[in-house]
Amino acid sequence: MKPMGPIPAWFGAEEGMLVIGGCGAASLVDEAGDTPLFVYDMDIVAARVRRFREAMPDALHLHYAIKANPYAPLLARMVGQVDGFDIASGGELAMALDAGMAPNRTSFAGPGKRGDELEAAIFAGVTINLESEGEGRRALAVADRIGKRPRLAVRVNPDFDLKGSGMRMGGGAKPFGVDADRAAALARAMIDAGADWQGWHIFAGSQNLDPLAIIETQAATIALAARLSDAVGAVPPLVNLGGGFGLAYFPGDSGLDIRPIGVALDSALDGLPDILQGSAFAIELGRWLVGEAGVYLTRVIDVKVSQGETFVVVDGGLHHQLAASGNFGTVVRRNYPMAVANRFGVPPAVDPVTVVGCLCTPIDRLGDKVALPPVKEGDLIAIFLAGAYGASASPTAFLGHPSPRELLLG
Ligand SMILES: *Cc1c(COP(=O)(O)O)cnc(C)c1O
Repeated sequence: MKPMGPIPAWFGAEEGMLVIGGCGAASLVDEAGDTPLFVYDMDIVAARVRRFREAMPDALHLHYAIKANPYAPLLARMVGQVDGFDIASGGELAMALDAGMAPNRTSFAGPGKRGDELEAAIFAGVTINLESEGEGRRALAVADRIGKRPRLAVRVNPDFDLKGSGMRMGGGAKPFGVDADRAAALARAMIDAGADWQGWHIFAGSQNLDPLAIIETQAATIALAARLSDAVGAVPPLVNLGGGFGLAYFPGDSGLDIRPIGVALDSALDGLPDILQGSAFAIELGRWLVGEAGVYLTRVIDVKVSQGETFVVVDGGLHHQLAASGNFGTVVRRNYPMAVANRFGVPPAVDPVTVVGCLCTPIDRLGDKVALPPVKEGDLIAIFLAGAYGASASPTAFLGHPSPRELLLG
């Protein structure tokens, strides 16, 4: 038997059926028409946002990094929950605008922005987080051609990283942002060229469960923003402190306590260096806001035995839930929390089973030697923490199976 990550505590059952957002899993599948199905509960997202607001300084802006889950009905609801969207492509720009987010509360990061993406963003009045000097030059040229004053911020590749992060995005040579020792010169050049300078974007890492590491990184981020702003000689309108709040996906993980982070930020914002006194501050989060609000439901097609090991074969797989297969940004494959939705809370059978997807590849493994109640054909398997980096972060075209269904509750 191999352990699995913790099932979020609020999930329960009625007569053995997993309940999501007040509805039984099987009736949600009926409502959506079939499996495989992602269900997202907006009430859980709203509760996360409340938790953030309660813990953090009032002045701190909350941005949603929409790549975590860009499902259109969810995005439309997020507009009323957060203070801004962070996007990373021209496609996400269109999604953000369609959802109704104000362009002046949207910022566009990401390497390799094409000319047409820069043009669409500058035309819409979205802030571009510049990833290089070359991108600064191209943005100014586009702005000049279409006769718009561009809103530009500089993304900094910090000279530190967020310790213990699942995915490192700063510290050392990186394709993201401009090295800290060249960032001030780029900001100065943009200001001198007449751009509407928006400040700094400093993102040092992702999927972190250690409040002290996040506190330390935020302090270093504020100090770096102050040093760079002093070098530019201008107050940055916004300092985006990055994010990095992680989720308890795996055995032994426990959820991030954000309260000490709020306390530390409170005193940091109270004692800001002079140059940052007039600045606004933002944190950008993806998975922490939406990850736990999602459940992936997939039906058991076959139960088979090979050399004494039982395989449960489901109609979903890594083409929808790549992360649960261990092939999205993790080094070692570990089990996401999962359950038999129609036998929720039933004690596990003696022998563990391996849950595999329907793709003809050995990497399509959703649960490795997990302890589940006895599983039969037709049962529903629920995989938790499926609200972030699921449908949109998986190779849905691989092997020609249908796309997953999605349903928003609440
Ligand atoms: C992906 C990304 C995020 C969101 O990361 P999460 O781990 O989902 O919170 C935030 N900011 C930037 C710049 C990103 O690339």
